[in-house]
Amino acid sequence: MDIPKVELHSHLNGSIRNSTLKDLLTNLSVPIPRTLQNPELEESTRTLSECFEIFPLIHLAVSTSSALRRVVRETLSDFESDNVIYLELRTTPRTLDSGSVGKREYVDLVLSEMKKWVEDKGTRLIPRLIISIDRSRGVEEARENMDIAKELFKMGHDYVVGVDLGGNPTKGTFKEFKGLLEEVRTAGMKVTVHAGEVDNLEEVNDIVAFRPDRLGHFLCVDDGVWEKMEREGGDIPIEVCPTSNVMTLGLEGLGQHPILERLVKEGYPVSINTDDAGVFNTKQSLELYRVAETLGLNEYTVSGLVWGAVDLVFEGNRRTRARVARDVMKGIKGILDKLERQEQGGT
Ligand SMILES: [Zn+2]
Repeated sequence: MDIPKVELHSHLNGSIRNSTLKDLLTNLSVPIPRTLQNPELEESTRTLSECFEIFPLIHLAVSTSSALRRVVRETLSDFESDNVIYLELRTTPRTLDSGSVGKREYVDLVLSEMKKWVEDKGTRLIPRLIISIDRSRGVEEARENMDIAKELFKMGHDYVVGVDLGGNPTKGTFKEFKGLLEEVRTAGMKVTVHAGEVDNLEEVNDIVAFRPDRLGHFLCVDDGVWEKMEREGGDIPIEVCPTSNVMTLGLEGLGQHPILERLVKEGYPVSINTDDAGVFNTKQSLELYRVAETLGLNEYTVSGLVWGAVDLVFEGNRRTRARVARDVMKGIKGILDKLERQEQGGT
């Protein structure tokens, strides 16, 4: 899918290149796991346990400001090469350089590197930032992150567009963080919440009742949840991450995805995303291809999915939104023209 695309669910650190992770670990003299050692494996799908092995290594590897800068630049370049023109990256602020760089400085560093990259490249990719809460790290840390988000948003920083609740879904509860998310929402920020990654219907119902602006994944749900959503204000857009979802649920393939087919066939507001492009060895065009292959969609229908996602961006600036819409539309027009030519050629 070489049309211009928008990416809405992507974790900065999870997007690290395999080669960069290997480099950084080597510099730290950390043993390289098998899945990073073997170059052929980099092209194939990893097992779930191999993926879980990688996350703590990324945390270890991206612990200096220079490593973080490198990951920001390379991630933007990788999305740009895949013709993503609007990218909402999310990250959980942390300390770097053995504690000498604080959380606020972490965020400033990400933002300045993004800005610098855009200026250097003169690119049409529009990067934006979502500041995350890692629910496994408790409410106090979450408050620090949300204070940073609110402060930048109030200052009118044009890159900071929203906040996210994520992290290990078996740690902490949504209820603990609800008040904080309510506060940022009142401040005018958009909120997305990872939901239904594990079987916990009570929590999914709490999240739906909160009505975030978007939901991440939303896999382990039942009819009652859908009915509740319908009753209490209608569809909340869903960020689907096909490969990641297959891995999380341990499915044999995307055909077993619990909600994908229903969402696409019903024309539900969804976006197709990578989640952790580095860990899952993927890119958005590949995710769209997998969806198309599984559901038997043609190029035009897949373009419709991309077009639908434009409506779900957190960007507040109308002019920027219009620019993204125009660029995606141009790409879809190209596909329509191609299909028309093929049709004419065939008759
Ligand atoms: Zn995620």
